[in-house]
Amino acid sequence: MDTYARFPLELVRGRGVWLWDQAGRRYLDGMAGIAVCTLGHSDRVLRRQLNRQLGRLQHVSNLYGIPEQEELARAICARSCADRVFFCNSGAEANEAAIKLARKHGHMVRGIAEPLILTAHASFHGRTLAAVSATGQPKYHQGFEPMVQGFRHFPYNDTSAFEALLAAAEADGPRVAAVLLEPLQGEGGVNPGDPAFFQRVRQLCDAHNILLIFDEVQIGVGRSGRWWGYEQLGVEPDAFTMAKGLGGGIPIGALAVKAAVDHFRPGDHASTFGGNPFACRAGLTVLAEIERRNLLSQVRDRGALLEDLLHGLIDRHPNLLVESRGWGLLQGLVLREGGPSAPDVVKAAMDLGLLLVSAGPNVVRVVPPLVIKPKQLRKLVERLELALQSLA
Ligand SMILES: *Cc1c(COP(=O)(O)O)cnc(C)c1O
Repeated sequence: MDTYARFPLELVRGRGVWLWDQAGRRYLDGMAGIAVCTLGHSDRVLRRQLNRQLGRLQHVSNLYGIPEQEELARAICARSCADRVFFCNSGAEANEAAIKLARKHGHMVRGIAEPLILTAHASFHGRTLAAVSATGQPKYHQGFEPMVQGFRHFPYNDTSAFEALLAAAEADGPRVAAVLLEPLQGEGGVNPGDPAFFQRVRQLCDAHNILLIFDEVQIGVGRSGRWWGYEQLGVEPDAFTMAKGLGGGIPIGALAVKAAVDHFRPGDHASTFGGNPFACRAGLTVLAEIERRNLLSQVRDRGALLEDLLHGLIDRHPNLLVESRGWGLLQGLVLREGGPSAPDVVKAAMDLGLLLVSAGPNVVRVVPPLVIKPKQLRKLVERLELALQSLA
């Protein structure tokens, strides 16, 4: 169906940070399938592990024990504040699970008949009906009303607006089950969370026994240079979701929770495909390779290099560019109003052999595979500069 405004480009092969189209033209991948292809394309180790898993077992059912799933759950918990994990297949599904958990917390723990979940303006939580209702961007709601009820939105990083909304919602007694936030808003324009704001939200959630849930679907699994975005903020969530980077290109999502808020009981939630041996093998391999190749510290170094290179670009083109912002290898380049738009820049870069993705009308998102090398980052920013020059 015609759900995507697609570019006239078909990619048929990939290796590392490079992609090729049908005519054999080569593209430098600066967007990694939108923050998905953690290890780049056709990674040797991922290929070997998945081939082996294909020769052993792909799918059984969650009616049976799945050793690969248990191992991946342990691996996630060992690297985070979580104690238990539910597996699904995408970011939206992971957030659906989080929303159900939040509502159960509201009913069971706080005794709320109609619990509310507070989320931010400019957030992005996915396209299923509840996840899109949680999403604080009216353009994604249009044409699909009525939205799922029980969500209230407030400006991101705005402590007093959050305090006011919470106070109003709780004026006649318990009403709020959870606060759902991205540690860094990806889709909404690459807006990093403010530690002071997040610490205040954590404090208020603790005081009211409200769940604090983080959507780590884009920034989690190493993209920030730490395993999880929340490590940049000095607060731990009660639960968090992940998906994009976890499978390195194989669909997998997860909700990870602390033991104290593990409210799901048999029958509460389920997924046919969720956590099957094949997808979990992909997740296990990605986590192991991030460690074996020391990618977390590499991402911090290369993120700093990318920031430097983008700052150079901004200095040379102050008439087109405002600033860059982000964490690690998720950086947003903010364009000046009145000049070329982010989609214009993405299109011009594609014509010059560089793939990027916009985050709203005026932010170009640079989200390369985590394995990108310094030389390739320099080439990426060179091509980006040529694209800007072609539009100036
Ligand atoms: C991409 C994204 C989602 C949705 O993930 P899907 O796998 O497309 O359902 C949810 N939250 C955030 C923060 C995302 O970036």
